[in-house]
Amino acid sequence: MSGSLTIVGLGPGEAHWLTPAAEAALEAASDLVGYGPYLDRIPEKDGRTKHASDNRVEIDRAGHALRLAAEGRTVAVVSGGDPGVFAMAAAVFEALEAGDPAWLSLPITVEPGITAMLASAAKAGAPLGGDFCAISLSDNLKPWEVVTARLEAVLAADFVICLYNPISKARPWQLGAALELAARHRAADTPVIFARAVGRADESLRILTLAEAVAAAATADMATLVTIGASSTRLIARGSDRPYVYTPRSVTKSPCVTSQGRT
Ligand code: SAH
Repeated sequence: MSGSLTIVGLGPGEAHWLTPAAEAALEAASDLVGYGPYLDRIPEKDGRTKHASDNRVEIDRAGHALRLAAEGRTVAVVSGGDPGVFAMAAAVFEALEAGDPAWLSLPITVEPGITAMLASAAKAGAPLGGDFCAISLSDNLKPWEVVTARLEAVLAADFVICLYNPISKARPWQLGAALELAARHRAADTPVIFARAVGRADESLRILTLAEAVAAAATADMATLVTIGASSTRLIARGSDRPYVYTPRSVTKSPCVTSQGRT
């Protein structure tokens, strides 16, 4: 078996945020496997076949990619952002774990990409300067009670929280519910960032207060990354320009005191 499989992160948007290593993996591939819109970002090339699929069948797509590699092809599975963050790399390893034991001898490589929360943070300033976490609001693969339990835990611990998959047509209310939960733990003027399509031509970045964000939840969409500040996250005003958002590196008070009334 001389095939191989690389799971490649395309970054959040345009080609200038693709790493040279990811670009080289795409160049070397005989077969590209992925969600159609991601494949559309990669130019056509003689001798390179694209296998497009829709967005809801990651595990089938992963199995298809492993079978192609086992046939001797040089396969690149593409993902937006980083392939290890709520994306295809985990689906490939799930398929590997449950699949043909012969696949274990295939060389499998993960090529990282810039994930949405890092791209969004860079545009806003430095909101991830202190401790932070990432939570997917999608309840397709986990019960909503798990999402709320995790949100409660990280709100109590005063983390900056990045919300991936905040909203979709099938999941219209979850972001509003998450922000309302946040508003029970954090001050109404806590900065919240709605970063949409970062790195693409239609990029937009909105800096809101938590109170405004609760009211604006329905204006987010599935191309939006939502970041909820911690108690120390603040703005640096710049007149009519968008303020910088940042979280200082040092923490001077216990989150247990601020959110739970104990030390
Ligand atoms: N692997 C991707 C995340 C996949 S989950 C990554 O590392 O970025 C899909 C979610 O990622 C979207 O619902 C949105 O919340 C976020 N996202 C992906 N690309 C984005 C972009 N360019 N701008 C803002 N958010 C983005």
